[in-house]
Amino acid sequence: MHRLGGMKAVLFDLDETLIDAPAGLKAAHRAVARELHRYLAFRGIEISEGPIRTKLESLDDRMNLQTKYDRDAWWPVLFEEIGAKQKISHQFIRRLTRLYWSSFVAASKPYADTRPTLAYLKRKGYKLGMITDTDGVKGKKKRRIKRLDFLEFFDVVVIGGDDTKQTKPSPRPFELAASKLGLPAGKCVFVGDKPFTDIRGAKTAGMRTILLKRRDWGSGDRADFTINSLAELPQIL
Ligand SMILES: [Mg+2]
Repeated sequence: MHRLGGMKAVLFDLDETLIDAPAGLKAAHRAVARELHRYLAFRGIEISEGPIRTKLESLDDRMNLQTKYDRDAWWPVLFEEIGAKQKISHQFIRRLTRLYWSSFVAASKPYADTRPTLAYLKRKGYKLGMITDTDGVKGKKKRRIKRLDFLEFFDVVVIGGDDTKQTKPSPRPFELAASKLGLPAGKCVFVGDKPFTDIRGAKTAGMRTILLKRRDWGSGDRADFTINSLAELPQIL
């Protein structure tokens, strides 16, 4: 099999690459739909949880495709899409956002091969890095990352949109991570699940790229390699 030799550092995206973000999203969508249903029922508006959840799922994908990560800005859009004519209070917006993230964090566990793969790469002498995007509010993602139980493996963590002005697919977060490691981008390989942010940004910065195919995002930049699980990495590097 064709291999990617000569790399000094392996850098990773976080959500849906190292942690099971879809499980987190499912829990977050359920909790928000339940809360919203209750809120409206209390005000005499009967919209059941199922349709609210379906609208929220599609809104989540759409906002991600547009790299709009501030959840506070999502809820008025969701309100409109489910046909609720109510004005939504700032306080309730904050409550939904807190509920979304607490549910997400509790349910988005690392994949089974996350820790073993990171430990293997570390043993092999690679520098490890994480390049992830903001959760839309400065400081929020950093707090989420601090709670990860595999953080000890990483030599560098960069949060696009917080540590740099722009999020992926800007090359800036990738360039910052490489410079913090003291390595040229050409000695770094980036592993991520989204072709339109992870692969495009890393490529623009001059890194080699590996697409971890968790689901089909449709169009996007082609990576040097495509894998279906982290456990395949040792065969490539
Ligand atoms: Mg991701």
